[in-house]
Amino acid sequence: MEYKLLDGKATAAAIRAEIKQEVEDIVANGGRRPSLTAILVGNNPASKTYVANKEKACADAGFTSKVIRLPEETGEEELLETIRSINEDPAVDGLIVQLPLPRHIDEQKVIAAIDPSKDVDGFHPISQGKMLIGQDTFLPATPMGILTLLERYNIETKGKNCVVLGRSNIVGRPVANLLSRKGYPGDCTVTMCHSRTKDIERFAKEADIIIAAIGIPFFVKEDMVKEGAVIVDVGINSIEDSSRKSGYRLVGDVDFDKVAPKCSYITPVPGGVGPMTIASLLQNTLKAYKNRK
Ligand code: NAP
Repeated sequence: MEYKLLDGKATAAAIRAEIKQEVEDIVANGGRRPSLTAILVGNNPASKTYVANKEKACADAGFTSKVIRLPEETGEEELLETIRSINEDPAVDGLIVQLPLPRHIDEQKVIAAIDPSKDVDGFHPISQGKMLIGQDTFLPATPMGILTLLERYNIETKGKNCVVLGRSNIVGRPVANLLSRKGYPGDCTVTMCHSRTKDIERFAKEADIIIAAIGIPFFVKEDMVKEGAVIVDVGINSIEDSSRKSGYRLVGDVDFDKVAPKCSYITPVPGGVGPMTIASLLQNTLKAYKNRK
């Protein structure tokens, strides 16, 4: 089958250009720039890269941004105090705390300390609760990016069988919820699979849409996919590759080369969901800015 790529890189670039234009218009009319603050605790290399990418995306979009880098040994109370002071800072529209946090800090406590009106990651229990009952709120960036990608490619979702592989609070569970909501993109009949699901293949084979968010390289094989399926591969897994200078490469949860020919649409990794996640964070920050005006 001739498949089409769901090109997250190009779609995200288009969204980022739209945001940049909107910010330029705001500034030309005498408005201030939207502003995002990120808190990074410790030295996790992946987290450092993610935060650097977010910082760059903010600069490109014309946002002001600040990264507060705290040492690994930062105490929970000190972090909570930092969050409280940013909550009260009128110059800051959006606040994110890069996860994971060092083990001695309670992540849920930290997330709950963020002012929900600045919670542009959409992880606060109030944001999650509002999402669950379909109220306007900040949607978590990765699920939001997935929805936007489906929307921009006009993928039909109404009445479709959607199988979500994974049930994490940041990807699987929210994306399953969003795709089952009334309206577009939604109205799917969603099955959420996880590590305790018996016979995942049986569910996956029935799916018109598969969202793979497990974190296991090449988990989804061609015999698990029906002809014409739409596949969104959220996975970012590093595997050894001696042909690369770095010695590794990034792959998704889907065995792309074998699976893609069976699909109508599929995301590449990299260049699929990853760039959409950053675009969604910018959209949320702009939304927080507008809400506060
Ligand atoms: P996570 O918190 O580790 O959750 C993984 C989920 O997969 C869990 O629900 C787990 O089930 C399930 N699972 C694990 N092994 C399984 C198996 N053998 N069969 C069925 N289900 C299984 O991961 P996450 O944070 O959701 O991330 C998932 C992947 O997406 C990772 O590769 C991550 O790097 C990537 N990611 C990408 C982006 C992006 O922007 N592109 C953003 C976030 C995450 P249990 O609940 O039963 O343990």
